[in-house]
Amino acid sequence: MTDSIDRQIVRIDEDRCTGCGACVAPCAEGAIVLVDGKARVVREELCDGAGFCLGVCPTGALTIEVRKAVAFDHEAVEAQAAAAPRTYVPQACFRCGTDEDHAPLLPVRTEGTSTWVCTRCLPSLIHG
Ligand code: SF4
Repeated sequence: MTDSIDRQIVRIDEDRCTGCGACVAPCAEGAIVLVDGKARVVREELCDGAGFCLGVCPTGALTIEVRKAVAFDHEAVEAQAAAAPRTYVPQACFRCGTDEDHAPLLPVRTEGTSTWVCTRCLPSLIHG
């Protein structure tokens, strides 16, 4: 049996989760899946606790917590990716339409929605 360690890991508030699935694609490691209409981290070793999924959740159901969990495992992530290739969903900046091949994109919450913004548009989003 794998030992648990204290580390950062995604926490999903089941009461807030609507099962919309928006957090599944941003998780590059494939750690989040929908089970019975709710998002879940079904294998702790696939979640690196980086939190890239947090910004896309429309209900604020996702947070990062520190608790005892199985250590993140790169080899498990690679095995998971080989066994179940993921459908890649390209994203674009909500302001200018730039895709991630032309500028880094960051998840943001703005005006009540979760979306993506490129690094060129981010300053004007912050400063107006
Ligand atoms: S984005 Fe939020 S509400 Fe949607 S499935 Fe993920 S945790 Fe649930």
